[in-house]
Amino acid sequence: MNKPHPYSNWLEIDRSIIANNLRALQRIAQTSLMAVLKANAYGHGLEEIGRVAAEAGVAYLGVARTEEGVILRSHGIETPILVLGYTDPLFYSQARASNITLTIFHPDQLIVLSALCADGPPQRVHIKVDTGMGRLGLPPEAAFDLLKQARRLHGVQVEGIFTHYARADEPQAETTQVQERQFLDLLTRLEDAGLRPPLAHASNSAATLCWPNSRLDIVRPGIALYGMRPSEKVVLPQEIQPALTWKARLSAIKQLKRGAGISYGHTYHTQSHERIGVVPVGYGDGFRRVGGNWMLLRGKRVPVVGRVCMDQCMIQLDHVPDAQVGDEIVVLGSQGDVRVQAEDIAARWGTIPYEVVTGLASRIPRIYIN
Ligand SMILES: *Cc1c(COP(=O)(O)O)cnc(C)c1O
Repeated sequence: MNKPHPYSNWLEIDRSIIANNLRALQRIAQTSLMAVLKANAYGHGLEEIGRVAAEAGVAYLGVARTEEGVILRSHGIETPILVLGYTDPLFYSQARASNITLTIFHPDQLIVLSALCADGPPQRVHIKVDTGMGRLGLPPEAAFDLLKQARRLHGVQVEGIFTHYARADEPQAETTQVQERQFLDLLTRLEDAGLRPPLAHASNSAATLCWPNSRLDIVRPGIALYGMRPSEKVVLPQEIQPALTWKARLSAIKQLKRGAGISYGHTYHTQSHERIGVVPVGYGDGFRRVGGNWMLLRGKRVPVVGRVCMDQCMIQLDHVPDAQVGDEIVVLGSQGDVRVQAEDIAARWGTIPYEVVTGLASRIPRIYIN
């Protein structure tokens, strides 16, 4: 058999699809783009997707943690990077040395940074405003005061101000209307006081697609850039496509008599003479240990039977009599005319596509195509 690599379980990630999704989002948003790359670029690989986004010319890269920004810099990526989350003061020097923009939401952070960066180039920061997410950020009034205070301090340059929506992906519009109004009002007051930072932003993928008045100076899509829907309510434009396929090769086939127990706990017993396939995909790869799983083999849906193990699971081969050891299995993605989307797996697992892809273990090799 002529195989391009020896892996039995791997991800294929199509860079050209990511680049295309970025272009489509840019076209829709009609403003600058911050490509959100947190959690290993939603499982797609931080470094490679960072490179695709940088080459596509996005204005900013968004990460959750300073360490993620440092990794991007270590691979020579020079696009501006914003840490969207909290940064411990012990990381401030490293952030500054790596030219990484930080998010702040408390006067103490401003004072510490200002003292640390009094000499040399100022540290760039974005101020986080909580307009109703109930997570990081100051209330709008306090954000206004922080900007006044920042103007008097050296060492810190407030480049941006942002907020985050709790329900932009839901049919319920009222919460987002309230959050948007609060944020836009704050921006108006800052503008009147000559305090508005150049980059105001509020839009995740759902808001980028559904809330045009929130696109402002830059939008922050994550999930849509990987070709997945923020929720069932949000329709993606046709040209945005998923970029990741999760594949495996069938390791073994066994012929079992009726009544044979399969996997830990024997939660499944063969009903008759059955052919059972062994797949080298388990919960240690991010494949959940729950019932109701299925995969694609020879263009057909095959059920996973028995408990999912750490590194393996078993499938029932009744509907694929021609299956052979070495056959390619698709856990997530397309095979022939059949498709398993992250949204389908999420429904099966009682979660959202975000958790499916960010749960893809780092041990699975990522292979980049196109
Ligand atoms: C994760 C995140 C995003 C991207 O959200 P998506 O729903 O994946 O588009 C944008 N902004 C912030 C602050 C985030 O934490």
